Amino acid sequence: MTSNLTGTTALVTGASSGIGAATARQLAALGASVALVARRRDRLEALAAEIEQAGGTALVIEADITHRAQAQAAVDQTVERFGQLDILVNNAGLMLLGPVVGADPEDWERMIAVNIQGLLHTTHAALPHLLKAAEDSPRRVADIVNISSIAGRVAWNGYGVYNLTKFGVNGFTESLRQEVTQRHVRVGVLEPGGVDTELGSHNTAEVRGEMIDPFYEQTEVLAPEDIADGVGYMVTRPRHASIGELWIMPTDQA
Ligand code: NDP
Repeated sequence: MTSNLTGTTALVTGASSGIGAATARQLAALGASVALVARRRDRLEALAAEIEQAGGTALVIEADITHRAQAQAAVDQTVERFGQLDILVNNAGLMLLGPVVGADPEDWERMIAVNIQGLLHTTHAALPHLLKAAEDSPRRVADIVNISSIAGRVAWNGYGVYNLTKFGVNGFTESLRQEVTQRHVRVGVLEPGGVDTELGSHNTAEVRGEMIDPFYEQTEVLAPEDIADGVGYMVTRPRHASIGELWIMPTDQA
């Protein structure tokens, strides 16, 4: 069976759970060979087995993308194995909520390290390959999809540094889009509202009880597959059409 992404290679960060895992499944189903990048190898191996069982191709890469050398090695291994890189999905992320007053600055550093620095490391390592794919692959276009958030559009009390990272991702995405779009690397941001994943689970019981659980109890949130569909849409547009921003919300979320 041929499909839109047959013959392409995609790298998905944060592929061990939630949106990243669903996106990897979706891109594999569309025909891409997929490099699965995250720290939890056992999760990645289980997903790779599932993808291969369904007839797809996956490569497990255990990496902490907050380390520049590991992000670079993840890209290098992908290109070594598949010969090219056509699609980068910068999805790995961390959301630690709570007031700025009295916060543990280490929480801020962890969020900035993954949501901003990790995204920069993988993007920097991937760009030469994406530019090459845009020039000489049969598809002659390449893609970066950055998973931002509604928190990259709207600020809320208690979301301070998470807001900072996601607003930053939006600004960086648009700047990079302008830099490379005429070389046919499409750069876009996807901003989900609430999605049913492990994202909230890293918070304290107090934050979960006050800021996260009530929202999930009252809202019919999105499934990770809803976001994966959006990524699939963005990377399967015809070469002349680029989705710069896609904002996907639960219908129930005002
Ligand atoms: P999950 O917690 O399920 O997934 C986060 C992923 O990031 C995991 O696969 C984790 O893998 C990976 N990750 C975290 N740190 C690192 C690291 N240092 N190096 C490599 N990988 C890392 O949450 P989601 O699926 O929800 O999150 C995916 C993205 O979606 C995030 O950017 C998040 O901000 C964004 N988002 C989510 C929303 C939601 O409601 N869920 C709403 C809006 C945006 P591992 O621990 O194995 O390394």
